Amino acid sequence: ETLDELDEAVTSCRSCPRLVRWREQVAAEKRAAFRDQTYWGRPVPGFGPPDARIAIVGLAPAAHGANRTGRMFTGDRSGDFLYAALHAVGLASQPTSTHVGDGLELYGVRITAPVHCAPPENKPTPAERDACRPWLVREFALLRATLRCVVVLGAFGWQALMPALANWQVPIPRPKFAHGAELTLPAVDDGPDLTLLGCYHVSQQNTFTGKLTPPMLEAILAKAKAISGA
Ligand code: SF4
Repeated sequence: ETLDELDEAVTSCRSCPRLVRWREQVAAEKRAAFRDQTYWGRPVPGFGPPDARIAIVGLAPAAHGANRTGRMFTGDRSGDFLYAALHAVGLASQPTSTHVGDGLELYGVRITAPVHCAPPENKPTPAERDACRPWLVREFALLRATLRCVVVLGAFGWQALMPALANWQVPIPRPKFAHGAELTLPAVDDGPDLTLLGCYHVSQQNTFTGKLTPPMLEAILAKAKAISGA
């Protein structure tokens, strides 16, 4: 299996009835500002090169962002914030991400999520998180040879990711999420170790209130770049 094949396969997944209904309902009803657009309305695959040294793990696609455009963090304010920071530290070719085909390239970074379908109120259930985990396991297995560092945006992603890391030793009890948390997991095979960096999620709730500022995010992305050699 290649990453392209995985990305193609995930877009046909219908394992979670509640999320299938929601993503399709949002795509049919649309937000007024996007009335003339065709929403993606399907699972959103990860985005970025197959030899990424850094992964960014969020939560799930936004209803009118990635669920509309079909690309992670593309077409909403959370994405504006994230891509501006990625560009500022030299990990993205441009500071904005508006639609598939806008020319954006990521340098050594793969952006993904533990849940690939937009959930109501941005809240997947534990059962939906668990149902989607095999996709994350497969994605991390395909990135195994090059991956050195994961920037985890928020507590949901942090908790969802740990059980998916088959190639690394995760401490028990599992360390808690914190902004600025840094944790290096030794490899259980011959591949590189993996460093996890915790960062507040780029949601508007955090960025509008100043809980997460551009310098805070850029500092963590710069650290990921230094650790991984991306
Ligand atoms: Fe499939 Fe994941 Fe979407 Fe559930 S959330 S339908 S497991 S892609």
